[in-house]
Amino acid sequence: MTEATKITAELLRGMPLPEPSGSVDKKARGSVLVVAGSVEVPGAALLAGTAALRAGAGKLQIATCSSVALHLGLAVPEALVLGLPETPSGGIRPESADLLCERGKRNDAVLLGPGMMDKEAVAALTTGMVNSLEGPALVIDAEALVCLDTLREPLCRREGRTIITPHAGEMASLLEIGRDAVEADPLATARRVATEFSMVVALKGGCTHIVDPDGNAWFYESGNVGLATSGSGDTLAGVVAGLVARGAEPAQATIWAVYLHGQAGNRLARSRGPMGFLARELLAEIPGIMAELA
Ligand code: AMP
Ligand code: MG
Repeated sequence: MTEATKITAELLRGMPLPEPSGSVDKKARGSVLVVAGSVEVPGAALLAGTAALRAGAGKLQIATCSSVALHLGLAVPEALVLGLPETPSGGIRPESADLLCERGKRNDAVLLGPGMMDKEAVAALTTGMVNSLEGPALVIDAEALVCLDTLREPLCRREGRTIITPHAGEMASLLEIGRDAVEADPLATARRVATEFSMVVALKGGCTHIVDPDGNAWFYESGNVGLATSGSGDTLAGVVAGLVARGAEPAQATIWAVYLHGQAGNRLARSRGPMGFLARELLAEIPGIMAELA
């Protein structure tokens, strides 16, 4: 098995994204349910949801805690926003898992995790959804990653229809090991988790490693430290969900998303300066970069 393949524009042109025919409606272009946000971090749902639309998905639903929902609906007028009962510390109550699985089934991709707070509630909601969600691809990010070690069996049953996007700290929490151990050999760590849990893993960092459930691996290095900024990972997760909803295979969607996200950062580094561009500014760059690769 090769160590890992470098992600380049040429590689992506060899694995083109599915293009919708001219006659399809928005549902057929791919629908995404984003379960995200909290009272303290409502904007993560905005970033992730908008990113899914910028990646070309046709329809967006966002599920978030009730006190945030109206504000989010006005900030993301393209989305149908579902307000869910919340915990005392402003997270989504785990009892909503069944409702979310029911909604999720009617979508092509579900993204779970960006901006979610209240560790225990997130773990319980994630457990409920991983156990019961049938059908759509599931993208898991941020706090929702931390409890996955206990969910190996249901994740394996999903047979590769799960994608996770941890940074080194989240991967360390998932495996209950030190961050140093992850950073000592990120590729081997990503490969271990991808093969043992039957998931596509994007282990993020200055160099991002992607591994599919068979152990095939790719890497991408933008060299752009401006991407290490609040909300950056939320936009990446949204792009992954949007591409998979469009019909890209899980590994293909992840490879494309990591490249598009990195190139968006490179464009902003050129136009605004290498430091200080915002995660929300990455979003509008995505369609143009995708079009150049078509
Ligand atoms: P998150 O920590 O979830 O917000 O994700 C951060 C994003 O920034 C990921 O896509 C990382 O790959 C990217 N990133 C973090 N550090 C660097 C770096 N030093 N150079 C380039 N990209 C980075
Ligand atoms: Mg993150």
